[in-house]
Amino acid sequence: MIIDEVLAQAKKENRSVLTEIEAKQILFEAGINCTDTRLAPTKEKAVAIAEEIGYPVVLKVSSVDITHKSDAGGVKVNLKNKEEVENAFDEIMASCKKVQPNADIEGISVQGMAKPGLEIIMGMIKDDTFGPVVMFGLGGVLVEVLKDVSFRIVPIEKADAVEMTNEIQGKKLLEGYRGQPPADVAYLQDMLVKLSNFVHQTPQINEIDMNPLFAYEDGAVVVDARIILED
Ligand code: ADP
Ligand code: MG
Repeated sequence: MIIDEVLAQAKKENRSVLTEIEAKQILFEAGINCTDTRLAPTKEKAVAIAEEIGYPVVLKVSSVDITHKSDAGGVKVNLKNKEEVENAFDEIMASCKKVQPNADIEGISVQGMAKPGLEIIMGMIKDDTFGPVVMFGLGGVLVEVLKDVSFRIVPIEKADAVEMTNEIQGKKLLEGYRGQPPADVAYLQDMLVKLSNFVHQTPQINEIDMNPLFAYEDGAVVVDARIILED
C-alpha cells in the first residue's frame, strides 16, 4: 500500500506535511483521479519525464515548506517543449530560492497539463466538535471571496453528496452557465463519497485540500493536492 509507505517515510523524516506527489499517490489509491505527477531532482530528469508524459506539461516546485507554490513563482503551466521545460526549471528554482531561502526543495514535479474545466475544490478538515468533515465548493474567486462551500460530517453517503453539490450558491455554474457545458456532477458526488470513505478509514490524516480539481462534462481530475498528517 502506497499510503503505508508514505506515512512511514513522513514519520522517518519527522514531518506532517506531504508533498503534492505523495498526496496525489494516496488519493489515486483511494480511487480519486489525479494528474500523473513525478519528481525530477534535476533538469535532465524533468525533460525525460516531460517526454514520457507528453507535452504540454506543468512544472512545480516540490517542497513541504512551500505552501503556496504560485506565490513563490513555483508553478509554470503549458510548457510545450524541451527548451520551455529547461527554462521553467531554472526560473522556478531561482524564484523559490529567492522568495523562501530557507525552504528545503527536493526538486521539481512534472505533470501533464490538464485541459481547462470548471474549477472545484474538495477537501477534509477535522472539526473540534464533529471530527472529520468533507468539504465541496467552487474554486477560484468564488471560494476565496464568497466562501461558497458546503460541509458534511464523515462518513457520508451518496444522498449527502447530492445535497452538498446542490446547496452551494454557485450551483448554476455546475449546471452549465452561458454556453459552458455542464459538469459531471454525479462523478463529483462519487468523488466525495470516495473521499469520505478514505478519510473514515485513515485517522492518521488531519487535513486534505484538493485545490483545484477540474470538472468536465465527463469526469474530473485533481491538479493540486495537499495532505497534512496528525502530529
Ligand atoms: P498553488 O500551490 O499555488 O495552489 P497549484 O498547484 O494549485 O499551486 O497551481 C496553480 C494553478 O495552476 C492552479 O490553480 C491551476 O489553475 C494551474 N494548474 C496547476 N496544475 C495544473 C495542471 N496539471 N494542468 C493545468 N493547470 C494546472
Ligand atoms: Mg492550488
